[in-house]
Amino acid sequence: MYLRKRYGASRVDSCPFCGKQGVVKSAQGIPVCIAHRKMQLSGLKCACGSYVDIKEGKWGAYANCLRCGNINLKKVLEMNPQQKAQEKPEEKPEKVKTEITVRSDELDFLY
Ligand SMILES: [Zn+2]
Ligand SMILES: [Zn+2]
Repeated sequence: MYLRKRYGASRVDSCPFCGKQGVVKSAQGIPVCIAHRKMQLSGLKCACGSYVDIKEGKWGAYANCLRCGNINLKKVLEMNPQQKAQEKPEEKPEKVKTEITVRSDELDFLY
């Protein structure tokens, strides 16, 4: 339906705020798009309910939980969808998402 399949994407390489390709690194070492380069992830929670710290390591940014240790940042982002929701409410309902996608595609073809 929509050309957005990514295979073998285990790294966090898309902007956590809008899902676009991360082309620059934020101050936290997270790949983000140009528009969100100044944004910071905050208030992210671990599966255990504790807040996690975002750290930058050899392999890029990761999350650190006081109770669970280091966690894949991507997993933490999946557990904290509100980061995306702030920017794009389209992430939640499937139908709305499809509508928006089609509409913007059409615009691209028209102009
Ligand atoms: Zn972005
Ligand atoms: Zn934890």
